[in-house]
Amino acid sequence: MPKPGSDSRELLRRLRATLAEDNEGQERLDHITQIVAQGMGTEVCSIYLRRDAQTLELCATEGLKKESVHQTRMRFGEGLVGRIAKEARAINAENANREKGFRYMPETGEERYSSLLGVPIQRLGEILGVLVVQNKQPRFYSDDEVYALEIVAMVIAEMKELGAFVGEGDAMSAPHQRPFLFNGTTGQEGVAEGVIVLHDPQIVVSNPVTDDPEAEKARLQDAMNQLRISVDDLLGANIKVGDEEHRDVLEAYRMFANSKGWVSRLESSIDSGLAAEVAVEKEQSATRARMARVPDPYLRDRLHDLDDLSNRLLRLLTGQGRHSSDKLPENPILVARNIGPGELLEYGKKLKGIVLEEGSVGSHAAIIARAWAIPMVIHATNITREALNGDAILVDGDQGLAHLRPDDSVTNAFRDKIAMVSEAREKFAAIREEPAETLDGVTISLMMNAGLMLDLPSLEGSGAEGVGLFRTELQFLMRSAVPRRNELAETYSRVMDAAAGKPVVFRTLDIGSDKVLPFWKPQDEPNPAMGWRAIRLGLDKPGLMKMQIQALLRGAKGRPLRVMFPFIAQFNEFRDARALFFNVVESEKRLGHTMPSEIKIGAMLETPSLAFAPDRFFELCDFISIGGNDLKQFFYAADRENERVRRRYDTLNVSFLTFIGQIAERCKSFDTPLSFCGEDAGRPLEALCLAAMGLRSLSMRPASVGPVKDMIRRHNLNEVRAVIDAAFASGEQSVRPALMAYLEKTDA
Ligand code: PEP
Ligand code: MG
Repeated sequence: MPKPGSDSRELLRRLRATLAEDNEGQERLDHITQIVAQGMGTEVCSIYLRRDAQTLELCATEGLKKESVHQTRMRFGEGLVGRIAKEARAINAENANREKGFRYMPETGEERYSSLLGVPIQRLGEILGVLVVQNKQPRFYSDDEVYALEIVAMVIAEMKELGAFVGEGDAMSAPHQRPFLFNGTTGQEGVAEGVIVLHDPQIVVSNPVTDDPEAEKARLQDAMNQLRISVDDLLGANIKVGDEEHRDVLEAYRMFANSKGWVSRLESSIDSGLAAEVAVEKEQSATRARMARVPDPYLRDRLHDLDDLSNRLLRLLTGQGRHSSDKLPENPILVARNIGPGELLEYGKKLKGIVLEEGSVGSHAAIIARAWAIPMVIHATNITREALNGDAILVDGDQGLAHLRPDDSVTNAFRDKIAMVSEAREKFAAIREEPAETLDGVTISLMMNAGLMLDLPSLEGSGAEGVGLFRTELQFLMRSAVPRRNELAETYSRVMDAAAGKPVVFRTLDIGSDKVLPFWKPQDEPNPAMGWRAIRLGLDKPGLMKMQIQALLRGAKGRPLRVMFPFIAQFNEFRDARALFFNVVESEKRLGHTMPSEIKIGAMLETPSLAFAPDRFFELCDFISIGGNDLKQFFYAADRENERVRRRYDTLNVSFLTFIGQIAERCKSFDTPLSFCGEDAGRPLEALCLAAMGLRSLSMRPASVGPVKDMIRRHNLNEVRAVIDAAFASGEQSVRPALMAYLEKTDA
């Protein structure tokens, strides 16, 4: 067995020499199993490579029966080899057949061998295969032997990545060449074709083995020093009062960058013959495997920090870096594990599409993508491992799909879809200045939802009549400290300037639930969506709300002001919030500030309870806006963020539509203006039904205004209502099928 150090280096040198041989992938792989068996002093060495997402295939062996090569396969988790792949960790067994999960593969003849040592072949946390050695004699392999085999597996992984084992069959296909379909979730609708820009490009290592460990360690030291300086710089530049979270991350970076354990593990790998970058990758694979196993979110975050730091170190070592945003290729599609709003803003509107492995619909990045109408797919698991810079990709934001390296038939079908979308866009542009008036003469006011300054230009382009919902918390979510009152007043003023006289409805802070302010210690609540959020928090801690009201009053600079409170569940909450508002008005007057020429105070109806509030509520409220996203989740008791239950209940369900109709009736009887600002308002069919149930104002994403207006202008509201009523009477659960049939007939 090789000892770490010179023996191991000799073994790695012999492995590397196979790269220079003029061999096919299969011969090279066979040769490697011989070299490893000989170098490690074992009777068997086998290499299993990944054939597809879930299967491994025996691709070469020294010692087992040759007939079993490319015949023996196992699923991840199956047998000891499958377990090594699934759990991404070594198995060291004195008597393999007594080990839990052992599966006998008669075709290999392995029953003669008692002891087994297997390690994952992995690169940056991705399992590429499994490397196994076996002996007849029952024995445990020493820690040095396990380590040596892991080092060998690293070199095999790098060789695989370099395309050294290309041959017949899926297990030996060339890396990064096959088409892949990623089935994710819609972050922003729309379709785009382009080339991939990886936010963290794949590092290419052409020589995974070093001949001169001392020089390699000096190179590592150098990169480490640069890393420490850059982390210190970041710490110096970023620490502001209240910036605790950011400081935490950077302190964690600094801790890792100075961690002796980390550095000494890297140096041992180099002593064993690995190039510095492969040594970093080896540690990174271990971190990623641990990340997948750690249930504690805090620890997982710290492991993420270490992973980010390793990426920085790799970039320093290889000189391979990120794209600078002014050197993007044509039609760039950004692919990343996740991205923060600041980084996304740096790329700017030049991006044609975005695909993320993580992310969420409510994330800041998604909000920006929506504001810019950049098609976006989230939850595209593992795409950053498979994709290379410059690969072709099709992004289908409507369906939440990303086609990586698509074949021609997929590309052609996709181009037809893009053509249809741009045709539709022209059609919507043509009716931009027209009213949203139904065939029977009912006019619906179409407004847009916004939350950032950069949303405002869409007001002009979309044809919306104003901003029906301005989510003020986004200004807070994007910062690491509480914004100052003057700064906020200035922002609100600029929002009103940009709206150029069109109405803007500002919603006071809706924080809590999934919207956790970076500078606010999150509350540990069992059920945050039903917890201490929005107006509940505002009334219990009025300081922040008062400050925001002052900023709104000052920002209006004498213009009319519309404000609504989120998540009002009962009348007294509205009454108290309204009273607090007018107290602030009085004190602002006393301070001599100019007051808005008109003030309208509304409430968001987001819990069913408010629909049954006392009459006085409807009399006192200047307007009501239905927050359909929340209302629906509480009406059906179905978490809006839980994909499993969210889609189960239809907006066009008879119960929900009946409820909406009742709210509309009640508001009408008090002459209280009513609008709807949940996501459903932006879906043409849903919007048409809401109008038929009595809604006269809808607020939606800017990109939805055109399609909704088109739908409304082409239909007769009385007829639609008659279809809905007939469906109600029929005993069906949802009016959707009846409406679809009606639309098919009328649109024909
Ligand atoms: C809603 O709940 O429908 C709404 C508009 O508010 P948010 O989506 O911000 O909770
Ligand atoms: Mg809401």
